[in-house]
Amino acid sequence: MKWSADAEDAIRKVPFFVRKRVRARVEQEARTAGKKVVSLADMQATQRRYLSGMSRDVKGYRIDMCFGPNGCPNRAVPGDELYRRLEELLQSQDLLGFLRQRVRGDLKFHHEFRISLADCPNACSQPQIKDVGILGAVDVRLTEEPCTACGACVDVCREGVFELDGEGPPRLALARCVACGQCVKACPTGTLAADRTGFRVLLGGKLGRHPRLARELPGIYSADQVLQIVGDCLAFYKAHSRRGERFAELMTDAFFDDLTRRYGAAGGDPH
Ligand code: SF4
Ligand code: SF4
Ligand code: SF4
Repeated sequence: MKWSADAEDAIRKVPFFVRKRVRARVEQEARTAGKKVVSLADMQATQRRYLSGMSRDVKGYRIDMCFGPNGCPNRAVPGDELYRRLEELLQSQDLLGFLRQRVRGDLKFHHEFRISLADCPNACSQPQIKDVGILGAVDVRLTEEPCTACGACVDVCREGVFELDGEGPPRLALARCVACGQCVKACPTGTLAADRTGFRVLLGGKLGRHPRLARELPGIYSADQVLQIVGDCLAFYKAHSRRGERFAELMTDAFFDDLTRRYGAAGGDPH
């Protein structure tokens, strides 16, 4: 739907964490009113209604997903199925009821438990600033298939992992690898293969008055392991959030280290 220039200016000033939802609501109301272009007046009227009724729209949790399912060519691992299972897990937790008991006053979006799922390490859905961030990941290995020294892996890898000295196979500096899987797609001979596909897991990120970036658990995890880890985080959150504090505010080094001990070995090498 088209927006007038002043309406576009106004929507850009809406805080980014509600901007997408306000934009969708404005367009929905304008469409219902038979309009083809959103004006500044439409935008302001909807924004007022939306923000004053925010507590009615809070559902206790939120899962952000990147645009991978729309056909992004960078997808390392499709997260659609994991998204569905996360939604089921979070729904089963009655987080809205939990927050209503713990938070004094109106519920706001920033009280919600936030998960972000991105299908590759480009991280378009900002997993680094969510309570739990999940990134599709591919562990790369060299196989016995002969390398033709074509250089495709050197060209495609943005992290400088590969070094060729004329003849293959390349030397790998895997400490730099972010597990995007692009080299596996580019290698024409099968010399590079996916050892394992799964998800990287980041915990405890948030914005707000005291922002912090999430910490990454070492390794790559299966969907089942990710769900177990999220379940553990929810249990910790419910046990410690007395007044609706975010998981990211509460997460301790001891809890993180305990998860690392319990899941780290299964997850594999750090990335
Ligand atoms: S995170 Fe990766 S897969 Fe998802 S939209 Fe961004 S580039 Fe595409
Ligand atoms: S998976 Fe690792 S080695 Fe391969 S292209 Fe991505 S960053 Fe480079
Ligand atoms: S590992 Fe594959 S992509 Fe890299 S140089 Fe050898 S054949 Fe080419």
